[in-house]
Amino acid sequence: MKKCVACGMPMKEPQDFALGDTRKAYCRYCVNEDGSMRSFEEKKADLERLLIRTQGISQGRAAIAVRSLMKELPAWQNYFRE
Ligand SMILES: [Zn+2]
Repeated sequence: MKKCVACGMPMKEPQDFALGDTRKAYCRYCVNEDGSMRSFEEKKADLERLLIRTQGISQGRAAIAVRSLMKELPAWQNYFRE
C-alpha cells in the first residue's frame, strides 16, 4: 500500500490520492488546487493547525510534534539535512 510522501497517510482508494490520480505520490490533503504538492511551510502550518484543533495543544508543542512527524516523511528529507 502506498503512503503519502508528505503526510504519511495511507492511500487505498483512488480518491485518497491527489486529484484522484493513483500515480501521484501525495494525497488529497497535500495537494494545491493546481495539482502541485503543498510546500514545506504550507504543510507545516496545516499540520500545526490540525494538531492544535484536534488535540488542544499549544502552538509551541504543535510545532515540535509536527517537526518530528515531517522528519520521518520522504518529501521533506532535504529540509532536515544537517
Ligand atoms: Zn498527504
